[in-house]
Amino acid sequence: MPSIIVHGGAGAYEPGKEHERGLLAAVDAAWVLLESGGSAADAVEAAIVMMEDDPIFNAGLGSSLNLEGVVECDASIMLSDYSAGAVAALKAAKNPIRAARLVMERTDHVLLAGEGADSFARKMGLPSGDLRTERRIELHRKNLRTFRDGGEIKFMPNLRGLADEMGIGTVGAAAMDAEGRLAAGTSTGGMMMKVPGRVGDGAVIGAGTYASPHAAASATGHGEAIMRHLVAKGAVGAAGDIGVREAVESALEIGRFHGFGFGMVGVEENGATALGFATQAMSWAERTDDGRRTFLE
Ligand code: ASP
Repeated sequence: MPSIIVHGGAGAYEPGKEHERGLLAAVDAAWVLLESGGSAADAVEAAIVMMEDDPIFNAGLGSSLNLEGVVECDASIMLSDYSAGAVAALKAAKNPIRAARLVMERTDHVLLAGEGADSFARKMGLPSGDLRTERRIELHRKNLRTFRDGGEIKFMPNLRGLADEMGIGTVGAAAMDAEGRLAAGTSTGGMMMKVPGRVGDGAVIGAGTYASPHAAASATGHGEAIMRHLVAKGAVGAAGDIGVREAVESALEIGRFHGFGFGMVGVEENGATALGFATQAMSWAERTDDGRRTFLE
């Protein structure tokens, strides 16, 4: 039986009904595909597209704004046959996860960044537009006031002050299809008030997203820490020996040891799903043969 698990970001926030609605819509969209023989890659893409289109999440429409008030999205996808695709600092494509999948399927590359990535997405016929929402613009104005220093905005504000809001709402998914293939994907507007050009773990294979024939996982949290410790690769690598649930726990333990918390969802070759977070909260939902669950249940 197939399975799908999704997250809507880990951090210091209180997930609400809007998150639950968005997450359930995402697993339902994926489940329709999985039940009718769709691939794990199709399921992960469909789930993430639903969340990118929902402005409650920090991905696609409603992404965080960088220091200059501009959206720069990161996304990645990886399959159990080790194929992978990613985009970084994408400004206008509405669905970065679709661009990441096209990088995987239509190019000989793994990662496209910046203008090249946007131009590739346009050439592939992906819709583009202004991904900023009123809520994000207002938040950005507020942040600018907070960081104004003698009339000038500091080039590099102290982002620790924003920790509660930083990247909350990053989305990710991990799925197994009826043929036992695995996939994982991650999509994010990244850290709020980041320096233009900053690329986070959401675009980095091994950091935010990883898959092998044994397991697939998507991580969320402070991207710089996640990149330094390649947490998705670490958990997926361990899952072959100790199972995905223990592997997620052990990845969180490594994070704690190094002084950072993050969240993760994963799936393994027998379809078992796993989730864990060492933050105040992580919103998530799953659909497996024994029904569907969310963080609110
Ligand atoms: N990992 C994301 C980033 O640092 C943010 C998040 O997951 O909340 O870009």
